[in-house]
Amino acid sequence: MSGAPKTIVTVAELRTIIALWRGHGDKIALVPTMGALHEGHLSLVRLAKKNADKVVVSIFVNPAQFAPHEDLATYPRDEAGDMEKLQALGTDLVFAPAGTEMYPPDFSTHIEVTELTNGLCGRSRPHFFGGVATVVAKLFLQCLPDMAIFGEKDYQQLLVIRRMARDLDIPVNVLGGPIIRERDGLAMSSRNAYLTKDERARAPLLFKTVTRIAKALSQDGEISEHIQSGRAALADAGFDVDYLEVRNADDLTPLAGSVAEPARVFAAALLGKTRLIDNVAVPEKK
Ligand code: AMP
Repeated sequence: MSGAPKTIVTVAELRTIIALWRGHGDKIALVPTMGALHEGHLSLVRLAKKNADKVVVSIFVNPAQFAPHEDLATYPRDEAGDMEKLQALGTDLVFAPAGTEMYPPDFSTHIEVTELTNGLCGRSRPHFFGGVATVVAKLFLQCLPDMAIFGEKDYQQLLVIRRMARDLDIPVNVLGGPIIRERDGLAMSSRNAYLTKDERARAPLLFKTVTRIAKALSQDGEISEHIQSGRAALADAGFDVDYLEVRNADDLTPLAGSVAEPARVFAAALLGKTRLIDNVAVPEKK
């Protein structure tokens, strides 16, 4: 039985422990999270354990990625539950800095990743990826892990972080983990806790819709037709669709006509007050 993971709150402590591990030749993985951990997060920790000797999980609800009208104040938090789950997986270290440790009052630097952030979530949440790239760059430089693990649930974010690390020559291998879902297909998310009972019953339609479109496109057909009927199905069920699009899986170039590339279907929609996102790969044509 492994003990509770050591929890630290300062960058100085983090660096001391990492230096010790490096001295032993350990391979280090970082899993950045905002806490309220569920099986999606835990799958990334398991992937990290498989690929590295030491696993650091960061828990930081990053104010820089929330717009003023968004849910920073009410974002789910569950420190005790998080620690229990991380202990059960044998996590080596939890880094849970306070806001002031990450952002001193005169903090003045902002990282902007262009191109990849033009559409999808970048359009409706223009502040979001800058906030994410800035905090992840800081976490990478604070920890200097060999690898960092991100979920394909936030597929655009995964590509943005990979591009940021490459562009800034931060030597961290950015790995993606598959989307973990509830039994009915709903992608696990800390924000699912906001859904009412009735919304929760309707929520899996987002996954069903992107899956149906992906399957249809792998057979044949016009992207725009499938998107149109998908939008209509979601609207009928009370979803307020932000986007439903098919894009190139490598660089997020929008696709039209028929699919001929590694493609993914991406969706974001409001169900009541809860913003849900999902994406699936278009299976290769046989
Ligand atoms: P968050 O705490 O929402 O910032 O998420 C932290 C990490 O967990 C990100 O890399 C997410 O993509 C990943 N993640 C969240 N939900 C899931 C899920 N259902 N399946 C796989 N990864 C996930």
